[in-house]
Amino acid sequence: MQREKEIELLLDREKIPYRKNEPMKEHTSFHIGGDAAFFITPRTQEELQKTVRLLTPLAPIFFLGRGSNLLVSDAGLDAVVVEIGKDFSQITFPEEETILASAGASLLRLCIEAKDRGLTGLEFAYGIPGSVGGAVYMNAGAFSGEMKDVVEYVEYLDEDGVLRRVDGAALDFGYRKSFFTGKNFCILQAKIRLRKGNREEIEKKMEELMARRKLKQPLEYPSAGSTFKRPEGAYAGALIEQSGLKGRSVGGAMVSEKHANFLINYQNATCADMRSLIRLVQEEVKEKTGYQLECEVLFLGE
Ligand SMILES: Cc1cc2nc3c(=O)[nH]c(=O)nc-3n(C[C@H](O)[C@H](O)[C@H](O)COP(=O)(O)OP(=O)(O)OC[C@H]3O[C@@H](n4cnc5c(N)ncnc54)[C@H](O)[C@@H]3O)c2cc1C
Repeated sequence: MQREKEIELLLDREKIPYRKNEPMKEHTSFHIGGDAAFFITPRTQEELQKTVRLLTPLAPIFFLGRGSNLLVSDAGLDAVVVEIGKDFSQITFPEEETILASAGASLLRLCIEAKDRGLTGLEFAYGIPGSVGGAVYMNAGAFSGEMKDVVEYVEYLDEDGVLRRVDGAALDFGYRKSFFTGKNFCILQAKIRLRKGNREEIEKKMEELMARRKLKQPLEYPSAGSTFKRPEGAYAGALIEQSGLKGRSVGGAMVSEKHANFLINYQNATCADMRSLIRLVQEEVKEKTGYQLECEVLFLGE
């Protein structure tokens, strides 16, 4: 209670707007999750820096992009959620083949802007429903491309709110991981390097990849995309299907009939439903195929 008061006093003093007990189900693509104790959407970099500097010693801070890879506990988050939103969504073109993209910009917009300038290399990301920050953090990828291929450097705030830059090999990209994995740094912007290409061909490729998504993925239901990582030498979706789990449900959570690696919020699923279904899938796949599936979706809260 005392900590809560302290946080409120600091935010009021600095005139940083915040909301208390904000339902996370409204900020995640799963539409699942209890309340965040504090929810802040900074409007400027200065406000963001102050938030980080002042609140880091008092409470856990969680940086939120579009919430498209998160499963938040029904009990909510005893944390300060800092949303990197539309005030951090600038996209500029400093040189002919580079883009400076702020963390809150959507990947979708980034892909469209790159295409409009005839820049190739980002087509793979068209249809991934995240922000630039979330895509860098996760090293998001699809159709044989990943952020690793295009990111030149990233600027971020460390836990003291100090502006820093990390580039090249130091970004440490791997399968759905990066330099930022497990750290509490706030990604501010990324420099993306692309190549000059043919606008019509780029557009055609993007449309083709989007059509494949629409055909194969249950986009009509809330989900967080692929629930499990691809295990060495196999595909998670194929293993789940092979184990006879398509259509299996726990409460309102279901293994999609359309794509078995998509666990969907079929009908008012709770986090508990989803976690039980994840465990059930892991156990049955292990028993039937010998593969241990690891989650790609990130859990937040108790
Ligand atoms: C229908 C659907 C399809 C999908 N398809 C794909 C796909 O093809 N390939 C793929 O890789 N993923 C896919 N995803 C998953 C998801 O879109 C990606 O992981 C995406 O990169 C997450 O971005 P986000 O902004 O939503 O991040 P969030 O879900 O908000 O956060 C994910 C992680 O990134 C961190 N983060 C976000 N922004 C920042 C920031 N500014 N600073 C520091 N940390 C930050 C968060 O703290 C968290 O740890 C899909 C999801 C859905 C719902």
